[in-house]
Formats: sequence, C-alpha cells, structure tokens
Amino acid sequence: MNNFIQTRGNDNSRNQKASFEEVILNPNASFGGLYTLEKLPQIDFKPLLNLNYSQLSEKIFDELQLTLDKEILQEALKSYETFDNPKNPAPLIQTEKNIYFQELYHGPTRAFKDMALQPFGIIFSKLAQNKNKKYLILTATSGDTGPATLQTFANQADIFVLCLYPKGGTSDVQELQMITQEAKNLKILGIKGDFDTAQNILKSLLKDEDFKKALEAKNFSLSAANSVNFGRIAFQIIYHIWGYLTLVRDKKIPFGQKIYIVIPSGNFGNALGAFYAKMMGLPIEKIIIASNPNNILTEFIQTGIYNIKDKTLIKSYSPAMDILKSSNIERLLFALFGASRTKELMQNLEENSFYKLKPKELSQIQSHFLATFCDDKGCLQTIKESFEKGYLIDPHTATGLKAAKTFCEDTPIIICSTAEWSKFAPTVIQAIFEKQLNDKEAINMMQKQKDIQIHPFIKNLFSKPIVHTEVLDKDKIKSSILNWLE
Ligand SMILES: *Cc1c(COP(=O)(O)O)cnc(C)c1O
Repeated sequence: MNNFIQTRGNDNSRNQKASFEEVILNPNASFGGLYTLEKLPQIDFKPLLNLNYSQLSEKIFDELQLTLDKEILQEALKSYETFDNPKNPAPLIQTEKNIYFQELYHGPTRAFKDMALQPFGIIFSKLAQNKNKKYLILTATSGDTGPATLQTFANQADIFVLCLYPKGGTSDVQELQMITQEAKNLKILGIKGDFDTAQNILKSLLKDEDFKKALEAKNFSLSAANSVNFGRIAFQIIYHIWGYLTLVRDKKIPFGQKIYIVIPSGNFGNALGAFYAKMMGLPIEKIIIASNPNNILTEFIQTGIYNIKDKTLIKSYSPAMDILKSSNIERLLFALFGASRTKELMQNLEENSFYKLKPKELSQIQSHFLATFCDDKGCLQTIKESFEKGYLIDPHTATGLKAAKTFCEDTPIIICSTAEWSKFAPTVIQAIFEKQLNDKEAINMMQKQKDIQIHPFIKNLFSKPIVHTEVLDKDKIKSSILNWLE
C-alpha cells in the first residue's frame, strides 16, 4: 500500500508514492520536502475505548494503512515494557478541575521522545536488517531526541548512529545521557553552535552526494531519525488518542465532549500528532501551542507570518524548544493547503527566511490552533506555583501550564508533560528555592524533599565513564564520520 506522497510534489527522480517502510528508511522527498500521508481516515473512536495501549496502537496503524509486518509492530510495542508502567505508558494526572497532565516521560530517557523513538528504533532496525544493508542514521538533537535515539539503537546489528548536539546547549543530564554511551555502533559529536546549526548540518549531510557515494562504497545507506521521520509521527498520534479515551474511561468527560490539548512545541512533531488525531475525528476543540521566548510559532499562529529574518535564537530554560525552523510545520501546510502552495511557502522560507499566509489560510490554521508563549521569568514562577500546589513539573511543561492558564475556560485541558523534572533539575531548583546548583547537586537537593524519587537511569549517569568528547567545527564532521566507519 503506497499511501505516502510528498509535501512539495514530485521531481520525477523518484516514484510518486511510497510505502510506510520506504519512508521510514528514506525520509527525504523531492525538492527538500517530506513524506506525508495522502489522506487521513475518519475514525469512530468510541469502540476503541476499552482497548489496551498496544491494541489501540495496532488499530491506529491499521486505520492509517501503515503497512508493516504485524510481528514487527508487536515487537516494537514491546519497547513500552521498559516504561514505568507498561500497561499505561502515558498516564493522566489530574491536578485541579479541568486540568490534566499527560505524563509522556516515563520511558528510559525521561522525555516524551521515548514514546515514539523506542518503538521506532525497533521497526527501523528490523526493516534495515531484512534488507541486508548497513545503515548510518543521522540525528541532531536539542537534548532529548539524542539520548532516546541512542538508547533504542544501541548494539543493534548493522545500524550505526551519529548524533550531533550543540555543545553547551543541553542540560548536564542530557549531555551525560549521550556522551556516556558505550555501544560501539554509536558516535556522539558536539558542535559549536545551536540546535538550528546542528539541524542544518544534518540536512546538508543528507543532501550531500559525495558523502552518500563515500558511504555507498562502504555498503552503507544514509537515513535520519529526526522528528521529520514519519515512523516517529505515527506513534505521536496514538498517545493523544489514549489521553482522550482515558478521560472518558475515567468518567471525567462523556464521549464526544471536546477538550483542549496544550503542547509545549519546538519542531512541531508532538503537535502534528495531535493535529492528525483531530483531523481523524478525535473531539479536540483546539490544540494550544506553547512556546518559550523563541516564539516563532506563536507569531505564526497569531499572524500567519513565519519570519526568522531578524531573529536570533535565545537560550531559554526550555532548551528542547529553542528552535526557529520548526520542521513539521511543513506537514501542516501540506495537509491544509496542498503540495504546490507548500512548495511555494517553504521555498520562500529558504530563500527569504520569511513567508506570509493569506487571510483565508490563516483562519484555517486558527480553526485548529491557539498559541501563546512564556518567558523565562514566567517559566520559573509557574514551576514554583505548581510545586507549592503539590505537582512537580519541568520547564517545558511549565510553558504548557502557563498556556493552559491563559486560555483556561470551562473546557477540560490535557497538558502534555514532555519531560521529567530530573532532566532540568538546576532550573527547577532555581525556580523553587532560588539557588544556583549544578545538575548533580540539584538532583540531590530535590531528592531530600519527601515523595520525590530519582529514576536509576538518571541517578547512575553521574558515575558512568565519559566515552565521547569530540567537539568539531562544521567542516570537520564529514571526515570524522567516514574515519569512524573505517
Ligand atoms: C522535543 C521536546 C519538545 C518539543 O517537541 P516537538 O515535537 O519538537 O515540538 C518539548 N519538550 C521537550 C522536553 C522535548 O524534549
């Protein structure tokens, strides 16, 4: 079943349509675009109410016609067994009337990236191994994708992973989760620059014909595990549906009542999953996009202008959202406006760092989304207030809670909690106790509060040996990779 088409149309150098398997292994589409579903099914969600998480996932894969060997999917879904509660990998916590947090961080690396990357890694590895080829997977991270990708691919046969991260742009815990990785098939490189720089290097490597030829000579194919890979998006649809159905099962709402979902956003992968769920008929009134001071998405959704011309990236307390070029917006443009308009807008962005929607297009966007942002001061304040009411949140989730308060009405709201506090402990300590501590000290201090547990995945990091220390300039990266693969 070839039901994937390309966001910027076809350049005739490849087939018009591709299968799920193909787009997982090779996510690059014509004209620098992305693969995306040709159409979304309408689903009657009510009969799915009593499915368990794996059954629900299989059902959604079926409905989306994501052709994949059943055994591979089932194997992939087993990765949730490493989560705190395998039966409920994405639990809802109610903190007050109409406010629910969906904790998406109960996987091995303590951020929501695990929800998709743990099963995705297994699918990718199985498909690649069936092809009898070696794969080099590139990934660029603002701090959470890297650890989750490395975790899922560690020691997988015939898979090699290169992870680029902005040196100094992540928390200590995030960095340790990467640079203490011992598996021989993983390489971690710090780069001088921010996440956008890392993402740009990755995109240019993926397009680099010389690089690809050099890899082919070694029998390697090149792929990417960034949030543009549809294999990740697929899993990011499912937990939003699960969250809604949980509200109904727990008798918090009758089936059919519309809710808001708040999503702390960067590359727009998580939000795109919610948008697809809404398009398939999940009763969502609006998806609220929460940003940090890099409020490009707030501006876009409020004005229809995507402008990065005069913007420089601001380092904020929620580094996983320190992004200006939000890759998955392209799939939203495609879903609403089609391929030729998407191509036009994305080319404007590439050439002029700017595009502007027509009023009619803007109102289409606004029929699905609301947006707001939170500065660093508001972030700290929100963490503190939440802690004082008995619920500990990380800085990314804080932008979500702040957004929920901004739009709070009488409608139930699910706030996506995208990371555990322990990944950003110094900011949390600063917010609550106004102390400046490093990650280790901050985690120790927090641990002394009653009822606060530290997961061994985090606790053990500080005593693991550091394996990866390289920090490179952009132009040294290619040769360093090729040397490593010798
Ligand atoms: C990646 C990440 C985000 C942003 O998610 P997108 O899908 O890129 O929008 C938000 N919070 C945390 C903690 C993350 O790791």
